[in-house]
Amino acid sequence: MRLKNLKLSQKLNNLFKGKRENEEILTDLEELLISSDFGIDFTTDVVDELRSRLSGAGTDQVIAGLKTIIKDRMTLEIPAFSPNGICVFLIFGVNGTGKTTTVGKLAYKLKEEGKKILIAAADTFRDAAIEQLVIWSKRAGVPLIKQYQGSDPGAVVFDACDSAQSREVDFLLIDTAGRLHNKERLMEELAKIGRILDKKIPNAQKFKLLTLDATTGQNGVSQALTFNQYIGVDGIILTKLDSSARGGIACSISGKLRIPILYAGVGEKIEDLVDFDVDEYLASLFDDSD
Ligand code: GDP
Ligand code: MG
Repeated sequence: MRLKNLKLSQKLNNLFKGKRENEEILTDLEELLISSDFGIDFTTDVVDELRSRLSGAGTDQVIAGLKTIIKDRMTLEIPAFSPNGICVFLIFGVNGTGKTTTVGKLAYKLKEEGKKILIAAADTFRDAAIEQLVIWSKRAGVPLIKQYQGSDPGAVVFDACDSAQSREVDFLLIDTAGRLHNKERLMEELAKIGRILDKKIPNAQKFKLLTLDATTGQNGVSQALTFNQYIGVDGIILTKLDSSARGGIACSISGKLRIPILYAGVGEKIEDLVDFDVDEYLASLFDDSD
């Protein structure tokens, strides 16, 4: 999954150096996980279970045990995308979390997988946002539906639904605005887009996907709670995992929200989006070799 910066293995191994009491190790482990963005609840839960398994175990077994316990808690059902009919990804999240970039990367990735794609530029708040998406759509080589700055995002989505149907696309990817300074308005705008989708293409499979910036740590988890409470979140796209030195955030999200992480952003280039894979993620965190 190309997550190079996430290594905790060195720090973990240091915990076991010298003759130390198990309880001492566990206390340090707890601190290490919390400072690495695993979240307090998740960490406490995992370390408690590890404590009950630890007696007499060596370092390797403890790390393996830790991985097993974490994996249990992170294994969530990933929704299947229907091979027939339109599948809609409504992409939303706070400003700067990587929505527009992710739409571009997703268009490229799904097209590479042989799918027919249409993008909708429903962030009409800034002209630059539409322009940015035009560039991504050209890079990915997929068509885009746009209007102009200040137009109703619902109207863009309305047009995009017609176009998606007449072009018989497999995926409709919708970019949205993310300003959170007016939370109610933002949530209402997203809910309205959702209603338009339900009305225009009732039979389409729809996924409400939230982009979360891994570098924001626990703040990302509270963003997810807010969006989930207001409009419901079907899946998470964890962006900037390449630049997060404390990568435990994915564990915290899975443990706290029970919402699957579908994709991970691992860079700024068009091919830097990967399917999120729990095993690879945990290996990138805990294993010494790449
Ligand atoms: P939006 O406001 O949510 O649409 O965010 P943008 O898509 O405009 O992205 C904001 C910034 O984050 C841009 O500079 C992107 O290049 C950068 N970015 C997005 N995803 C990633 C990622 O996975 N890794 C890195 N390193 N940067 C990313
Ligand atoms: Mg954007």
